[in-house]
Amino acid sequence: MHNFNAGPSMLPEEVLREASAAILNFNNSGLSVLETAHRTRPIMDVMEEARALVKELMLLDDDHEVLFLHGGATTQFMQVPMNLLHKKDIAAYADTGVWSSKAIREAGYFGKVEVVCSSKDRSYRSIPKDFALPNDARYFHLTTNNTIYGTQWHQIPDVSVPLVADMSSDILSVQRNFNQFGLIYAGLQKNMGCAGASVVIVNRKWLDKIPVKISPIMDYRNHIREHSMLNTPPVFAVYVSMLTLRWLKAKGGISEIEKINQQKSDMLYAEIDRNSLFVNRVDVTDRSRMNVIFELTDEKLTSDFTQFTTERRIYGIAGHRSAGGFRASLYNALPLSSVEVLIEAMQDYEKRVQAK
Ligand code: PMP
Repeated sequence: MHNFNAGPSMLPEEVLREASAAILNFNNSGLSVLETAHRTRPIMDVMEEARALVKELMLLDDDHEVLFLHGGATTQFMQVPMNLLHKKDIAAYADTGVWSSKAIREAGYFGKVEVVCSSKDRSYRSIPKDFALPNDARYFHLTTNNTIYGTQWHQIPDVSVPLVADMSSDILSVQRNFNQFGLIYAGLQKNMGCAGASVVIVNRKWLDKIPVKISPIMDYRNHIREHSMLNTPPVFAVYVSMLTLRWLKAKGGISEIEKINQQKSDMLYAEIDRNSLFVNRVDVTDRSRMNVIFELTDEKLTSDFTQFTTERRIYGIAGHRSAGGFRASLYNALPLSSVEVLIEAMQDYEKRVQAK
């Protein structure tokens, strides 16, 4: 299958094979990874290796701590302001789609939120360019890649307050200066493994300054102190993540995968722009390299094109239920050959329609 799902999404075959084997017999222990106690050496090694690989691949400095926590990115919409925003504080947010809107709503439970820029009036087809932040904002939150609308921040704005980023749909796909962020979070189920947990990368110096007491299980400082083992961690999700991180390292790391991601998305956008049947309405400079959205110029062909691609084992290209159209997610694990298959299907479909 050519799996273009937006998440949970395609994982490398090697990862699936190794994870399957470990479900039956983990590290030749005769036990499944699912039935191994979390405070045993082999599982603690998994937790440590996963965190160390994130640090290594993202070139993080010693101030940045890596946590694997229960729950998805949506949990982080709440946990970030719970830790960092208190009643009278202001947080600045960029509104670039459904996910950032949800993050904005959650932050409102904890403090004042100022939406400093929005592309809503442009149907979220662009990334805001000119905006100013309140000087006293505790942080500025942005969603680096907008999974539903197919836009991406290719330039991270240079701001004077700490940056917080939801990188759920482009983490590990593109090289950035990750040390410039106060906090980064991402659900694991796109570029980093399977669903059920998130990675949180936080500058510990920033947290040291927080005087507030919050529920211990929600407090990042406790998770740092206990090395992501404050309670029973999501062992299997972290294990799959560790295998995915090993796979990425063997591929040459972020800089190498970024080249392939660039090539995949360039090829697909070129075909959408060339093909008379399809259109992408996102501002060219803000197009996402991870989630490529496109529409048929004649909507009536939607089910016919869907069937045409299904026959070629192309899977998961329906657009998000709120956006319609099509979306091809080109995460790290998706090979270039799958993009070629999709492009060929688009070309053959164009010929078929034109011949009618
Ligand atoms: N942020 C972004 C950018 C997403 O794409 C998603 C899910 N697709 C979420 C947040 C929500 O993630 P979760 O379902 O893991 O809570």
